[in-house]
Amino acid sequence: MNRPGNGKDLNEGGEFQSPSLERLVRSLNRLPGLGRKSATRLALHLVAGSERTTVPAEELVAAIGEARDKVTNCERCGAITEPDPCRVCTSERRDTSLICIVATPIDVLPFEKAGFYRGRYFVLGGLLSPLDGVRAQDLPFGKLQDRIAEDEIKEVIIALDASVEGETTALYIQRLLEGRNLELTRLATGIPVGGALAYTDEVTLQRAFQFRRTF
Ligand SMILES: [Zn+2]
Repeated sequence: MNRPGNGKDLNEGGEFQSPSLERLVRSLNRLPGLGRKSATRLALHLVAGSERTTVPAEELVAAIGEARDKVTNCERCGAITEPDPCRVCTSERRDTSLICIVATPIDVLPFEKAGFYRGRYFVLGGLLSPLDGVRAQDLPFGKLQDRIAEDEIKEVIIALDASVEGETTALYIQRLLEGRNLELTRLATGIPVGGALAYTDEVTLQRAFQFRRTF
């Protein structure tokens, strides 16, 4: 096979003289977080990389196809899973009275990796953001309320980003659940473990000070 590379194939327009390679670059470029440069590097790697250093294209295609077929969001909590409902929702060892609200399915992973949390989850699938047009009716708050009632939830833990959108969403949830017989808690914010006080940003320091505790 004719292996392109080394920039020799670039024409004056900055594009490859290979429509098929150009198509691959453009496709990869449409993926989130992958700029033209990275897409080009990846495309060349896939097309011209040695068998020792790269993933065979067929394997990649098969893996994408299988994942697309099998991966789904848990119908109960919204986590990414293959068995539906997910293992966290069906496990008898989890505390069913505890629910942790997160923004995206990825946010479940650090909790599960750390392994200290024994409750279940509820994935919102986004955060309220008036600027981006994400309104309350766009997120599954009705389902959240049903879930809280059905499972007789005693504590709701809000684990959302410490951003304006995270704050807005947390306050919305607080108002939504007002008057219910449950404990509503939020993750603490403050100076990270191992972090140096002198290099802590103002907002983090202010939060840490605001939520200081006796010891
Ligand atoms: Zn689940």
